[in-house]
Amino acid sequence: VDDELSIRGLKTYFKTKTGYVKAVDDFSMTVKKGEIMGLAGESGSGKSTIITTVFRVLPQNASVMGGNILFEGGDVLKMDRKKFDKEVRWKKISWIPQVSMDSLDPLYTVKSQMVETIMVHEDVSKGEAVERTYEALESVKLNPEIADKYPHELSGGQKQRVIIAMSLLLKPNLVMADEPTTALDVVTQATIVDLLLSKKKELGFSMVFVTHDLSLLATFSDKVTVMYAGQLAESGPSESIYRNPQHPYTQLLLKSIPDIRKWKERKLYSIPGEPPDLENPPSGCRFRTRCPFAMPVCKEKVPEPVMTKEGHVVACHLIGGSK
Ligand code: ATP
Ligand code: SF4
Ligand code: MG
Repeated sequence: VDDELSIRGLKTYFKTKTGYVKAVDDFSMTVKKGEIMGLAGESGSGKSTIITTVFRVLPQNASVMGGNILFEGGDVLKMDRKKFDKEVRWKKISWIPQVSMDSLDPLYTVKSQMVETIMVHEDVSKGEAVERTYEALESVKLNPEIADKYPHELSGGQKQRVIIAMSLLLKPNLVMADEPTTALDVVTQATIVDLLLSKKKELGFSMVFVTHDLSLLATFSDKVTVMYAGQLAESGPSESIYRNPQHPYTQLLLKSIPDIRKWKERKLYSIPGEPPDLENPPSGCRFRTRCPFAMPVCKEKVPEPVMTKEGHVVACHLIGGSK
């Protein structure tokens, strides 16, 4: 009942000339009300595909081959398209797209884009929509002059604030932010994270925060889900994941980030090998080609996610469980 979003056994594949890219393959994750879920994994592991599946903005060649996406009592995937667009998209679930630096329309001023967004979804007068636009800009600490500017007249940080203001215009219950800080310098990154956190405090939404940077998540996410090659590796409360990672992939990922507490002895590891080709992924555990602990069973059987005594969900034969 206190689940905001529950993704169950999701499979999203991309059709290519030669077959299917199994970008998300039997993936499950639950986000509770008011919680920040960090979604991490290397480039190409399927993070954005999960988000675009939930928001129903997949490209033409993508198909959802299975699974459910439960949100506030209904299945997002089964909902009538018009109903979804009118009642859920932006209103209940909002999206901060990856590389959102380009996601504003270059031909319109900030104000006209924001007013339009409000008027499409809500039955309000233009005057009221304009008023709400100024309030929204103020609430992300932007000067009112920004309203009459075109996107190319804004700095990266200002643009990202406008995108955040737009994503929160209709007071959604769930915000999905896909690498919202990656294109920004480190100082601006920190202020954008702070802004999202203060808006979250004020409005109480749940959030999925996508990043390839586990060290960033450590500072603010309640839970972390680590994916590898389209599948879940490990998920659990952040602190516990950082202190006591169970999956070999999580352990290696954490080794590859500098540890602020042990800065004197820090070395940068990178995980040897490459992520697999998702058109022809390895049999059994997809991580086995890079895993220092791989055993014969890892080639035979897909490790099934199981709950550990630490309260993590882990998909690895070292932990137990198979299918
Ligand atoms: P990044 O950290 O680089 O943003 P990601 O984890 O968000 O990566 P996705 O963008 O979800 O990864 O991509 C998952 C996989 O699906 C990748 O192998 C990618 O090449 C593939 N893919 C994505 N979009 C398409 C498409 N339209 N057609 C074919 N393959 C695609
Ligand atoms: Fe490594 Fe096997 Fe665990 Fe996969 S299932 S992570 S290959 S030990
Ligand atoms: Mg992505």
